[in-house]
Amino acid sequence: MSPALIVHGGAWKIPDELWPAHQSGCRRALDAGWAVLDSGGSALEAVVGAVRVLEDDPVFDAGVGSVLNRDGYCELDAAVMEGASQGFGAVGAVRRYANPVELALRVLGDGRHCLLVGAGAEAFAAESGLEPVEPESLIIPRELELHRRRNREGFRLESQFEPGDTVGAVALDAAGHLACANSTGGTSFKLPGRIGDSCLPGCGLYAEDDTAAVCCTGWGEQIMRRALARQIVTRLADGGVVEEVVDRALGELAALPHGRAGVIGLTAAGRPIHRHNTPRMAWSARRRSGETLEPADPRPPPPDRRTDRR
Ligand code: ASP
Repeated sequence: MSPALIVHGGAWKIPDELWPAHQSGCRRALDAGWAVLDSGGSALEAVVGAVRVLEDDPVFDAGVGSVLNRDGYCELDAAVMEGASQGFGAVGAVRRYANPVELALRVLGDGRHCLLVGAGAEAFAAESGLEPVEPESLIIPRELELHRRRNREGFRLESQFEPGDTVGAVALDAAGHLACANSTGGTSFKLPGRIGDSCLPGCGLYAEDDTAAVCCTGWGEQIMRRALARQIVTRLADGGVVEEVVDRALGELAALPHGRAGVIGLTAAGRPIHRHNTPRMAWSARRRSGETLEPADPRPPPPDRRTDRR
């Protein structure tokens, strides 16, 4: 089986000035995950490797650089899922770990539970030997300023429905196994203790070796209500044109209030999926060494690159 990998860095109205950093961050994560697959690593190892790079990049709403909740601190959610066994590991509302995807992997490896949250997740992390960080070290000036502004100007309810720069990755390895992983700081100004779709099986991610694996990003409350990831994989198993199946699910979501989302994935044959009902989604995919697929640069070309130059 020829390996494949796709990563994303959020689906929303990503402004022109932020687009290059989103795309180059996705490319770096793709390269890291691809190196794992290229050296014979598993799909699970590849998605964790890719997501770690995105967590370490302050551009994204994951790990360092995550959005702040209403009370001014980060609470992180992350998950991993294997398509062969439906093995699932996740953590929610973690404050002291900069790479929650690593913690999710350990929950999966431990095998007793699927999802640990808050203080229990952090106690498990300490027991499993992961180094904690100071919660303040996850906060960057951009998010602090945004939080201060919201406090000053008053919180607009609408802004909590604006999805952010959550990250995710889906891989197919040489053995034909699929895996996926998500990581997020969730939604800006969320209530403390809020957990989103990103760490819930069948909501923000789902993997089934025979069919496909997908990661979702967008407004988590609506994604959860639809169990969007599982819905898409189940419908793909029923057949049909992949893009049409995913677009139908996204169209149904869009009919609900604030039903904005993006989806990345791979079919069992390694065909990349990248669809969204938001203005933009940052993503990067590879099927063979040297062959990288990315969204067309939506910025207008500078004058000297225009083909219609007169
Ligand atoms: N789905 C994430 C959440 O609701 C946010 C996002 O994808 O940007 O926590």
